[in-house]
Amino acid sequence: MRDFLRLLARNQLALAGLIVLSAVVLLALVTPLLPLQAPNVTNTGDRFLPPFTEGHLLGTDHLGRDLFSRLMYGTRLSLAVGFAAAVIAAVLGAAIGILAGYYGGRTDNVIMRGVDMLMAFPYILLALAIVAALGPGLLNALVAVAAVNIPFFARNIRGITVGIAHKEFVDAARLSGMGDMRIMLGEVLPNVIPVIVIAMSTTVGWMILETAGLSFLGLGSQPPVADLGSMLGEARSALITNPHTSVVPGVMILIIVMAINLLGDGIRDALDPRLRSGALTRPMAATTVRRDGPVPEAREGALLDIRELQTQFHVKKRVYRAVGGVDLEVKPGECLGLIGESGSGKSVTALSVMGLVASPPGVITGGRVDYKGTDLIGARYEQLRTLRGREIAYIFQDPLATLHPLYKVGDQLIEAMTAHGRAPKEGARQKAIELLKSVRIPNAEKRIDSYPHEMSGGMRQRAGIAMALANDPEVIIADEPTTALDVTVQAQILSLLDDLRRSRGLAIIFITHDFGVVAQLCDRVAVMYAGRIVEEGPTAEVLATPAHPYTKRLIACVPELGEGRRKLAAIPGLPPPVDDLPPGCAFAPRCAKATPACTEPPIELMPFAGTRAVRCIHPENDAAAREAAE
Ligand code: ADP
Ligand code: MG
Repeated sequence: MRDFLRLLARNQLALAGLIVLSAVVLLALVTPLLPLQAPNVTNTGDRFLPPFTEGHLLGTDHLGRDLFSRLMYGTRLSLAVGFAAAVIAAVLGAAIGILAGYYGGRTDNVIMRGVDMLMAFPYILLALAIVAALGPGLLNALVAVAAVNIPFFARNIRGITVGIAHKEFVDAARLSGMGDMRIMLGEVLPNVIPVIVIAMSTTVGWMILETAGLSFLGLGSQPPVADLGSMLGEARSALITNPHTSVVPGVMILIIVMAINLLGDGIRDALDPRLRSGALTRPMAATTVRRDGPVPEAREGALLDIRELQTQFHVKKRVYRAVGGVDLEVKPGECLGLIGESGSGKSVTALSVMGLVASPPGVITGGRVDYKGTDLIGARYEQLRTLRGREIAYIFQDPLATLHPLYKVGDQLIEAMTAHGRAPKEGARQKAIELLKSVRIPNAEKRIDSYPHEMSGGMRQRAGIAMALANDPEVIIADEPTTALDVTVQAQILSLLDDLRRSRGLAIIFITHDFGVVAQLCDRVAVMYAGRIVEEGPTAEVLATPAHPYTKRLIACVPELGEGRRKLAAIPGLPPPVDDLPPGCAFAPRCAKATPACTEPPIELMPFAGTRAVRCIHPENDAAAREAAE
């Protein structure tokens, strides 16, 4: 709640709206307590007194009634009717929407067709018809305005509810034995309330206007009682001769509706988390690059060389250092494992290579990604585009999310080839079948015409790998490609990647959080923690004698079959938030060996036992590793 108010206050227009509206509402609330003249007492001797006359601050109307007093009582009435109509429309509309969306099927059909019928009439015409049927009067005007706005809420809320009613947490509630009513109130309603509030805040102003319109036509409040609309209506005949009688209620309507709309926009922006993080702004084609420091040199012999890469997320005033100076290299035909807890920056590192981090908020602030002698950071977009998928390809974690649900797998494979103009139109299908065969999809000739949802998770992931292979890339970056799969399929995919690497000389960067996978596939491994590499070296050596305490704890978390009753040691504590990294070693707060020196900046990646490197001043297995190296 405090967060919401803070966000709202940051939006100055909304804040102004809030202040003005609060002042008007407050005045309306205390109106009966103010020493005002009676609003409905006529005094024809004092007709059309101009504003600022003694005793009549805003003058008098055509019957000599005090305009200020009438304005205050009229505002009170208009606000009350407008808000009441909004609440009634929201409650009934939301109830209808939730019922229709939750039950679906025939219930949905019957209810929504009824709503559609209401929507088929122009707003104001329908309201007029309702008032004509019920008879003029403020209460009937309220009913009419509420009724014509119900469909708007019902449609909105139904749409949201349909999405929610099929979510797993609703299924879980049903499985736990809850009744429909409790699910709707306890599970669905809290999820649609923000939408209801947003819809209300943006329509209250409109409803006040509609009520005023009905009163203006003489169908709302009846004389002598004033609301803002009827005051305007009565002043109409004196519009030219005594304009102040129209200006006074007119300005009040303007102020109220403006304030409500400004506030409503502010509420919508503050409640919608997507608007907050700026996610609705379209990401740019390539990640923004803002390198201030010197660009490091590439190393000899590497195919893809990542040097001191820094990628940050700039969200408002916060800076999230997701990748804080990462060094990695792969040689042709080599497989490098990148391992770390969730949130350690593995994906962001991988995406930075090809400028695929969404900008805004992502910014690459330093380093170099060298591919065959060209620096990819800050390369022209056209150049990145020709390399994406053709020289450096990606395999992502969730194959269902990366395959387009409406196209056949074969067509997507062909598209991956034709995007780089690599395949002749006729031969493309044959090549796609061969690709599917090469990733061992059974019955590839038939499977090429399957849609993604017709395949199992393992098959989809293999189709994803086939797409990555479509253009014979030099490097494949695989971001947790087997995390969503069961172990047997995982084993197949790992051996498939291993074969491909040997037969095609592919370089692979394999991202995972599983040391078992690394041991099976990777020549070398880099361990990542809080956006930095903390240890790097040949897989076998790192596994046998881990040097960084974090690596050691990570390995201790891996269960081993047939290893007796070793206790699995979870690592206590959590990784540090990347917008507030501690100076010195980021792992120190969780490390049993930490000393005061560990918290003093900075700790560099130091050579360790010849071929390895570690970012720790108290490495484990120091002597053992040295011995093994000699
Ligand atoms: P993982 O190692 O699990 O792949 P990621 O690379 O996805 O981790 O994320 C690294 C860090 O970057 C995380 O702390 C995450 O919270 C942060 N991050 C990722 N995307 C964004 C974003 N759009 N805005 C702010 N922070 C982000
Ligand atoms: Mg990830």
